[in-house]
Amino acid sequence: MIKKFIRKILGVKDKPARDPAEPIVLGPAEHGIDPKLVSSNAIRVTSSLQEAGFKAFVVGGAVRDLLLGVKPKDFDIATDATPDQVKRLFRRAFIIGRRFQIVHVMFGQDLLEVTTFRGAGEANAPKDEHGRVLRDNSFGPQHEDAMRRDFTINAMYYDPATQMVLDYHGGIADIRDKTLRIIGQPEARYREDPVRMLRVVRFAARLQFTIEPTTRAPIAVMAPLIDNVPAARVFDEMLKLLMSGHALACLQQLRKEGLHHGLLPLLDVVLEQPIGMKFVTLALGSTDERVRAGKGVSPGFLFASLLWHQVVEKWTAYRAAGESPIPALHLAADDVLDSQTEQLALQRKIASDMRDIWSMQPRFERRSGKAPYKLLEHVRFRAGYDFLLLRCESGEIDMELGEWWTAFYDADASEREDLLTSERVAPAAAKRKRAPRRAARKGDIDGAAVSGTTSDE
Ligand code: ATP
Ligand code: MG
Repeated sequence: MIKKFIRKILGVKDKPARDPAEPIVLGPAEHGIDPKLVSSNAIRVTSSLQEAGFKAFVVGGAVRDLLLGVKPKDFDIATDATPDQVKRLFRRAFIIGRRFQIVHVMFGQDLLEVTTFRGAGEANAPKDEHGRVLRDNSFGPQHEDAMRRDFTINAMYYDPATQMVLDYHGGIADIRDKTLRIIGQPEARYREDPVRMLRVVRFAARLQFTIEPTTRAPIAVMAPLIDNVPAARVFDEMLKLLMSGHALACLQQLRKEGLHHGLLPLLDVVLEQPIGMKFVTLALGSTDERVRAGKGVSPGFLFASLLWHQVVEKWTAYRAAGESPIPALHLAADDVLDSQTEQLALQRKIASDMRDIWSMQPRFERRSGKAPYKLLEHVRFRAGYDFLLLRCESGEIDMELGEWWTAFYDADASEREDLLTSERVAPAAAKRKRAPRRAARKGDIDGAAVSGTTSDE
């Protein structure tokens, strides 16, 4: 009361005192969401829940994207029904118990995550010695659920039936100002879950939003807390970041915020060594393009690119020590994969794709006999070939090799024979010494790799 009086005398304007339990409610004319962007399966889930007497909303990133006029890539649903109650309403529904219990509802290939409103129990939840929340499965009212979310723009709820948006934390205003603002006290929120620091960077880069100063300030200091997060979670978040369609921007932003150390050993390498930067930039650029064009991206290809120069370095060293090229490459690949986090090893599919892509590379040097036909039949040929083209574009090896493979790939049977023949009559002198001008000589694996480690300075 007295405070209010003094403020009045001083002419300090009170912020409109908003009850955190009362959201701002916006109708379609105010929020402008295009209902056509809402997936029919999301509507199926919300309406089934509502018909059964529960509250149900589209929530989080999907609402944010809808407000930005972007078609969300997936829809999360929040409800006051418990996981068991949700499960009973759908034919294909599975309770998944990770950090929080959620329900996966499937329609064909489409998966929707349904979460029960969380209670504000984060402060009292069991934590590790650094303050990171270990487990917390308390349910609560909707406004507490909103408080538990990470950023204001991720804490809005959309009801497809009434087309109303519920905004508890000023998310609409922040979307309009292109601002990322953490909900609650930033230090406390990062301590409870350090992954939020990576998320803010990902959203800033992807949405081209500005990080509000108090949200941003603690990051540089608190960055080391990420080391205590289970590696699998960090890896998942890094994968999201790299596959966001804005990987380059995200990595630049990570570096800007001082977050690039220790995330994945490979990022330290990528971001700190000028060698191979051109290659990585090209690889990430083309990944970003593919994602934005709605094409598939393979994590294996991405990681194979990020780590290629490490492989080349070790490959060269093994050969210098007397190992022949192909076994040397396998040894180098083993070393690099082993030196990465246990996650890369755990994600066997990714690691085996990487190995395939790398070990195909010397085989591209062989352009006579049956070898090229065999290579064409390789299940991962396309990835290996795309990788070869990246090596050409980055200046690591001569463009001519990539062009030859493009011609061979596109050719019909007799044209292919001609290409092989011309290869055979070409001087196949695969000299081991470096040529005066930098060019990959056909059949000369050494030439390719040596120029690869020296050309990007
Ligand atoms: P994307 O478009 O990348 O999926 P998203 O915001 O939907 O972005 P999700 O990881 O799918 O991100 O999470 C869904 C929602 O769950 C978020 O919008 C946010 O409200 C909440 N959330 C996710 N991770 C956290 C976290 N670490 N701390 C608090 N809330 C979170
Ligand atoms: Mg999402």
